[in-house]
Order: sequence, then structure tokens, then C-alpha cells
Amino acid sequence: MKIICVGRNYLDHAKELNNDVPSKPMLFMKPQTALLQDSKPFFHPNFSKNIHYELEVVLRICKTGKHIEKEFAHNYYDQITLGLDFTARDLQDDLKSKGHPWEIAKAFDNSAVIGTWHSIENFNKENIDFQLFKNGELKQDGHTRDLIFNFDTLISYASQFFTLKQGDLIFTGTPAGVGAIKIGDKLEGFLEKETVLTCEIK
Ligand code: ZN
Repeated sequence: MKIICVGRNYLDHAKELNNDVPSKPMLFMKPQTALLQDSKPFFHPNFSKNIHYELEVVLRICKTGKHIEKEFAHNYYDQITLGLDFTARDLQDDLKSKGHPWEIAKAFDNSAVIGTWHSIENFNKENIDFQLFKNGELKQDGHTRDLIFNFDTLISYASQFFTLKQGDLIFTGTPAGVGAIKIGDKLEGFLEKETVLTCEIK
């Protein structure tokens, strides 16, 4: 399986990092070794002094597709959860400034945390609320109505380049409020007021 991620998909987040607003989805990938699930703790690696949390809605692909039309894209994902796109911001800033690929800042082991899955049928996809709390304090407050590129657009666009297969994951981008983690922190993700993700930093 593969993990396809989208950068700068919420206006407020693009602005907080002083990035341009993209005219097309900006995609990158994480390998299977990046996956961290079942509420396992995240062990802070020593190659970064500034790892950021980014809470995102995550979709699970349910069948193989290539060149998927937007109007049919909803047939290709059936489960939803929240995920953390852990990002070594210090490494990423350095790589970005040199125009280099940023894989080591984004795709390292355990950098793609996912919560428990729910059927997409239970949600109004265009109007999902989700929140990240760090140590009980609200840090990110996202609404899918604020997405620059919605789920179906992302699926359609990604499938022009990558064949989507059952079990692939799509991280759909983070809203504003990203920030650093440190050892001892506890992160909790709420999807429509229900806890679907917890992650302790060790
Ligand atoms: Zn992200």
C-alpha cells in the first residue's frame, strides 16, 4: 500500500507557512513503513528538533482505479479517519530552501499516524468538523468545507498519475494551527466530537 498526502489544501494553513496557494493539488507520498496505528506511541527521533503535528482527514481507497473521473470518485473510498502527518519542519525548511526533495522530513518511520476507521456513509463529506487537542488544549479546528480541493477532486487528480489500490490512504491536508511536539505530549484527534485518534509522544 501507499500513502498519498496533499500539501497546502487549506487556505489558512498555506498562509501560516507563507506559502503560495496552489492552483493544482500538491502531492507527496509516504511509504508503508511510515504508518503508525492502534494508538501506539510515537518515539521522537533525534534527527529533528522541530517535529510538527498536522491533523488531517484520511480516506481509505476501496478499489483499484486509474484516471478516475471526479463524478465517480466517491465510489473509490469507503472509510474515513483522522491522521497525523508528522513533519520535521527544520529539515523541511532547509530542503525547501535548497529546492531539494523533502522525503526525509515527511516520510520517515511512524510519520503517518492513523486513528480508527468509520464508514464514510455516516458523514456529510463537504461539512466535517475535526479538532486536534494537545495536552487537553485545542490546537487545530478544521472544517472540510474549507478545503481548497475536495476529496473527489483529490482522488481524481492523484489517479491521473498513480493507480489507486484497495488499502491505499489519502491524507487530505491540514488546517491552520500546526505546531511542535515534545516528549510527554498527548495528542487527541476528534472527528465530529468523537475521539478517533490518540498518540503519546515518548
Ligand atoms: Zn500534511
